[in-house]
Amino acid sequence: RRVSSDEGGAAGRQHGTDAGREPLVVMSGVDKHYGALHVLKGIELTVGRGEVLVVIGPSGSGKSTLCRTINRLEGVDGGRITIDGKELPAEGKALAGLRADVGMVFQSFNLFAHKTVLENVTLGPTQVRKVKKADADRRAMELLERVGVGHQAQKYPAQLSGGQQQRVAIARALAMDPKIMLFDEPTSALDPEMINEVLDVMTDLARSGMTMVVVTHEMGFARRAADRVVFMADGEIVEQADPETFFTKPSSARAQDFLSKLL
Ligand code: ADP
Ligand code: MG
Repeated sequence: RRVSSDEGGAAGRQHGTDAGREPLVVMSGVDKHYGALHVLKGIELTVGRGEVLVVIGPSGSGKSTLCRTINRLEGVDGGRITIDGKELPAEGKALAGLRADVGMVFQSFNLFAHKTVLENVTLGPTQVRKVKKADADRRAMELLERVGVGHQAQKYPAQLSGGQQQRVAIARALAMDPKIMLFDEPTSALDPEMINEVLDVMTDLARSGMTMVVVTHEMGFARRAADRVVFMADGEIVEQADPETFFTKPSSARAQDFLSKLL
């Protein structure tokens, strides 16, 4: 399911749509309300296999809700969402299976405080995927090495820096062998000096061909890693384009306004 390095490289990252990619996540007409508040308004969005989508937009525009509906942390009121051709069931075993296909990394690292770093990473594979402990341990160590915290495996989360904890959270999500990784402002809670170590891991992951949806305010990351930037405002996708086009000539007034305030 990896794209070739050719597709995943700079050339492949220039097109502004999912043209030519097999759809992995398809959202059609997705509606979501919180009481009277209409937070997602008829969202039409396709994420191609191997594609890296960066979602940006003002606070309250529905970015987190969009992520949370993709793995059914939130239900939807209308429309449908399919992952790899399968519609997301509302609940039950099938939901647990599909949810396991979607890795999620949050702003707050959400590691289990009373478990070691290694145990945090092996828990899902052994309990949900029924992987043998020895195999789960081996794979977890590979992933911890990959994100640069292999030497911290026997420590507890509180003994790690925020940046290290977030990298463990990424390894934990990857250990489930997800088809897609969702990142909801993964660096927003980090001290500035730790942001890049997490973005570097995410950039490597993007280059490896992982399908990713990343909500972030890190425009440098968006420019270098995104295939497509999706700009949301008021529960709608207002504009989407390849990063070069989006950052140099955004077409909507709302995106122009949003970008001007970042500078
Ligand atoms: P963003 O991530 O873009 O900041 P969110 O998806 O978190 O936006 O929120 C979109 C809107 O929905 C906001 O107005 C927020 O206050 C509201 N909202 C989010 N979660 C809930 C909830 N569980 N209950 C009620 N309102 C919510
Ligand atoms: Mg949010």
